[in-house]
Amino acid sequence: MPQRAENRSADGGAGTAAARAVAISKTYASGAVEVKALREVSLSVPRGRFMGVMGPSGSGKSTLMHCLAGLDAVDSGQVFIGEQEITGLGDKKLTRLRRERVGFIFQSFNLVPTLSALENITLPLGIAGRKPDRDWLDSVIETTGLTGRLHHRPSELSGGQQQRVACARALVGKPEVIFADEPTGNLDSRAGAEVLAFLRESARQMGQSIVMVTHDPIAAGYTDEVVFLADGSLVDRMSQPSAAQVLEFMKSFEPVSAGASGR
Ligand code: ADP
Repeated sequence: MPQRAENRSADGGAGTAAARAVAISKTYASGAVEVKALREVSLSVPRGRFMGVMGPSGSGKSTLMHCLAGLDAVDSGQVFIGEQEITGLGDKKLTRLRRERVGFIFQSFNLVPTLSALENITLPLGIAGRKPDRDWLDSVIETTGLTGRLHHRPSELSGGQQQRVACARALVGKPEVIFADEPTGNLDSRAGAEVLAFLRESARQMGQSIVMVTHDPIAAGYTDEVVFLADGSLVDRMSQPSAAQVLEFMKSFEPVSAGASGR
């Protein structure tokens, strides 16, 4: 709700950020050509907010998410998860930090097919040697609406239910931040709407910080704030966006017609 957003830092100052990038740059070498995927991008993900990252294909969304999540190293700049700077951490420490403080939701669900829904949900905690907090686990399961499906395997669940299992798996460890990469990309619109509403409620009711990369204006319409990337730079942001506003804004990114002159 608007009031709730007002109560939090509007753009997530350093003290309140769940994750933060400070002037990060990343260049890929593609043969002899260099591709500047990120150009000095700074971004704070405020705690307890659902933030969308949008932009045309190739604008750097995935690179930004991978760098924020410590899955990819930056060339320059700094990345923080909570107060902890992750730039410069060794592989072991990074892996541990990701396991303990970061949650992931992927387009393709990434569930273990031989495990039940419940076993999938608690798997990362088990790997980290942590015991689930029973009350929290129950509350996450109840909110995801999976109570009657816990002993089903992924193949016995619909796509929407599978993605809700993946959401529960991400939430149950109470991570500092969840990164969701096109989480509704494989879902029909109804199942997608359920997952998006669930993510929105996770931020509102459970205070979960979430960053979602999406190219879908409808998905962006569920977020508290959406930032727009173009050609590796953050070019704009929109608070409490509606799908229609995002769609309208995205039209400005459409490529000029093929016949147009220029670069
Ligand atoms: P988006 O997620 O917005 O589609 P990406 O972050 O995947 O954008 O890519 C940004 C730019 O970096 C694109 O030009 C892409 O081709 C390039 N890029 C991404 N990953 C690699 C890589 N591993 N090697 C070379 N170029 C890459």
